[in-house]
Amino acid sequence: MAPDDVSALAGQAIVHRRPLVAIIGGGVSGAAVAYHLALALPDKPPAITVFEPRHEIGRGLAYDTADPAHRINVPAGRMSLLPDQLEDFLEWIRKNDAIADDPGAHRADGVLFPQRQLFGRYVASALQPLVEAGIVRHRRALVTDVSRDGTFWRISDSQGGQTFADYLVIATSHPSPSTPGNLAVLSGHPRFVADSTKPASLDVIRADDRLLVVGNGLTAADVVASLARTGHRGAITSISRRGLRSRGHAPVPQDPFGAFETAPAHSATDLLRSVRYAIAQAEQSGLTWHAVIDQVRGHGHVIWQNLPIAERRRLVRHLRPFWDAHRFRIAPQVEEVLDQAIAEGRMEVLAASVASVRREGDNINVVLRRRHAGTVERVYDAVVVTTGPAHGGILDSQPWLASLRNHAHLQLDPTGLGIACNERSEAIAGDGKGDSTLLISGPLARGTFGELMGLPQITEHAAFVAGELARKVEKALKSR
Ligand SMILES: Cc1cc2nc3c(=O)[nH]c(=O)nc-3n(C[C@H](O)[C@H](O)[C@H](O)COP(=O)(O)OP(=O)(O)OC[C@H]3O[C@@H](n4cnc5c(N)ncnc54)[C@H](O)[C@@H]3O)c2cc1C
Repeated sequence: MAPDDVSALAGQAIVHRRPLVAIIGGGVSGAAVAYHLALALPDKPPAITVFEPRHEIGRGLAYDTADPAHRINVPAGRMSLLPDQLEDFLEWIRKNDAIADDPGAHRADGVLFPQRQLFGRYVASALQPLVEAGIVRHRRALVTDVSRDGTFWRISDSQGGQTFADYLVIATSHPSPSTPGNLAVLSGHPRFVADSTKPASLDVIRADDRLLVVGNGLTAADVVASLARTGHRGAITSISRRGLRSRGHAPVPQDPFGAFETAPAHSATDLLRSVRYAIAQAEQSGLTWHAVIDQVRGHGHVIWQNLPIAERRRLVRHLRPFWDAHRFRIAPQVEEVLDQAIAEGRMEVLAASVASVRREGDNINVVLRRRHAGTVERVYDAVVVTTGPAHGGILDSQPWLASLRNHAHLQLDPTGLGIACNERSEAIAGDGKGDSTLLISGPLARGTFGELMGLPQITEHAAFVAGELARKVEKALKSR
């Protein structure tokens, strides 16, 4: 028996006659790689193991939520597991009559924004037959260690298992937000929520609590919508450095507008100029900025590829907050909740940062440093952190990632947005070369591929990674 035919699990030797592809992370990024890889080689699929502690593969952080206030923020017609069949989710909804009990899913013009859990069900149900057929194995465990063992990746997990894989895909996405330093004094406070994406984390907030939300993006919007649903009526202050709120969708659907691929910009300034020009042109044609930003997003990979690293860094440093506010759109139902809270004077959105925090019993005294407007002191009963993923700490966020970095298998991308990889999505090792057996799928590859946070780009990228793996597996099988 050739050594690369052996995989051991919890001490028991298991014989694999096929190469083994291990995928760490069974959110959409990992699930979509497994799905497309299984389909790419239907006659001789490799053994595919997905490590994911959640009960189903395909949900991940975003779609493993039971909260009905959490809605997809991209119309259902653009959220598909199949990048070349954009209406697949819509068709699945129709076939399963899946929103019969959710009339709120429809916007006035008929565009659908269902609950996020439904999208999770759709992806999980696509993976389930592959799991049942034994083509994809769901290993319900957290990966705790990864090391190189000859030609294998040796993967240890929280169930005591060891798996030896020929190919490894990292699809764990970004780590949870890190608590801003001056909020650390709140650790242990009964109403300090450091990570609002944890199930039931908002249950500690009482109906009349005065609430500070640190961060103004989509997670902040989720928090306000969830609390409104459970009857929160206290005052809410939501802060971010620039006070930018995630924008809503265009009043009517529009096709993307602008030509960013034909003569791609070579500097951040040029790009900004061409985006502004395209927006002016779009407005003359009766469109809105949404159509232009959608085009930039669609052409994101080409735009990014044509920017030198220094210009990518400039973009990230100066323009990312503006990009995030326009590119991540808020679901209309959630936008309505926020607009109503603001109109009723219950919620204010400030351009501010936390200057200092002091506890007085259970009261939280916060000095806010307002942008260009001095400081102001407020008293809150609860504080929720929604500052977005902790990009900088990716390789220190889990011991096995740190170990792969320490053994020169991984390094941070030069833009600081993810893990360094080449155009084939192969991790760039310490010697500067792509490792053909170690691939990155999903948002962690965004430093190389540009826009890679929203579902449409994620499934497209996952299908690409699956194609790369299929090619490698076929080649390996032929050479045996
Ligand atoms: C709250 C939220 C809502 C969003 N809503 C939308 C939306 O409506 N539309 C849209 O287009 N985009 C949305 N996004 C963007 C989102 O990033 C993508 O749509 C997509 O879900 C990302 O999937 P992922 O698999 O890369 O990451 P995740 O969903 O984060 O999945 C990563 C998985 O890795 C697992 N994992 C981590 N460490 C380990 C380990 N050591 N061992 C094993 N498993 C591990 C985790 O359990 C997790 O399930 C949202 C993002 C968030 C955070």
